Amino acid sequence: MLLPFKEGKLLSELSTFCIGGPARYFTEAHTIEELEEIMAHAHAEKLPVLIVGKGSNCLFDDAGFDGLCILNKIQFCQQDEGVVEVGSGYSFSLLGVQTARRGWAGLEFASGIPATVGGAIYMNAGANGAETYDTLQEVTYITETGKRELLKRADLTWSYRTSIFHQKKGAIAAAKFVLSPSTEARQKQLKIISYRTATQPYSDASAGCMFRNPPSHSAGALIEQCGLKGTAVGGAEVSTLHANFIVNKGNATAQEVLALTELVQKTVREKMGVELEREVRYVSSRSPLS
Ligand SMILES: Cc1cc2nc3c(=O)[nH]c(=O)nc-3n(C[C@H](O)[C@H](O)[C@H](O)COP(=O)(O)OP(=O)(O)OC[C@H]3O[C@@H](n4cnc5c(N)ncnc54)[C@H](O)[C@@H]3O)c2cc1C
Repeated sequence: MLLPFKEGKLLSELSTFCIGGPARYFTEAHTIEELEEIMAHAHAEKLPVLIVGKGSNCLFDDAGFDGLCILNKIQFCQQDEGVVEVGSGYSFSLLGVQTARRGWAGLEFASGIPATVGGAIYMNAGANGAETYDTLQEVTYITETGKRELLKRADLTWSYRTSIFHQKKGAIAAAKFVLSPSTEARQKQLKIISYRTATQPYSDASAGCMFRNPPSHSAGALIEQCGLKGTAVGGAEVSTLHANFIVNKGNATAQEVLALTELVQKTVREKMGVELEREVRYVSSRSPLS
């Protein structure tokens, strides 16, 4: 049974950037069945859909979203030896910690990435030379019309911080990962988390790295070499700790973040001759995909 949709939920409350206006309609999906039902209903009503995990890679429009925002709360997790079956709303960071603690390798890098499993699959999140698709075997997918599909590894395509799901309009509901036994997984995961917390601005609101690393360059190093650390537009600032993070120092708006993004791109283009491409997804009020 579908719960009534709420109106006017602030997207800033669903975003690690703490930015974003109201969604026209809002609901939560706690099970795969609920997600099927909500997607079918949205399709029948011709409502644009925005799926949100932890909102850790999104810059939501100041004007909000003129459609239905679905917050993913599908949070089951079962592990049998190296095989993990997990709901797409489960914490990706927690999954990395739990599997490493039990002596299974492959998801240690997830520790500290403030994502859901679904968001990590959508973005092909990665760090420390590893990425989500290294161990991903299957995805349970709900199409935009609300039909359930099982996608095997051979059905999936991915590359650096992108996946086949950028071309689709449905929702990732669950996933299966296959991990390898390792006596070093826990030590590796602990090293990763301590390096992260020392080098990334975890105490500031942000959406992680703003730009993709261009081939054979580090976006952060290029931005730092241009002397842009600490540069601000309104409440948006290039982090003084990690130059590839734009942080919200107060009441930054999406427009201020976009203006700072363009300033950084222009400066790096003019001084270093390199084009930076935005990794963070800007969700405009009219389109969930931009
Ligand atoms: C402090 C910090 C550190 C970070 N470190 C890293 C890092 O090391 N490596 C890295 O790769 N990223 C990093 N990120 C960025 C971010 O955590 C990842 O991109 C993550 O994968 C986003 O997951 P999410 O659940 O928050 O997705 P969201 O931000 O909620 O959504 C991102 C996109 O995925 C879509 N989406 C989400 N869930 C689903 C679903 N179930 N079905 C279909 N579409 C869906 C959304 O519509 C949106 O387009 C970091 C971010 C922060 C704030």
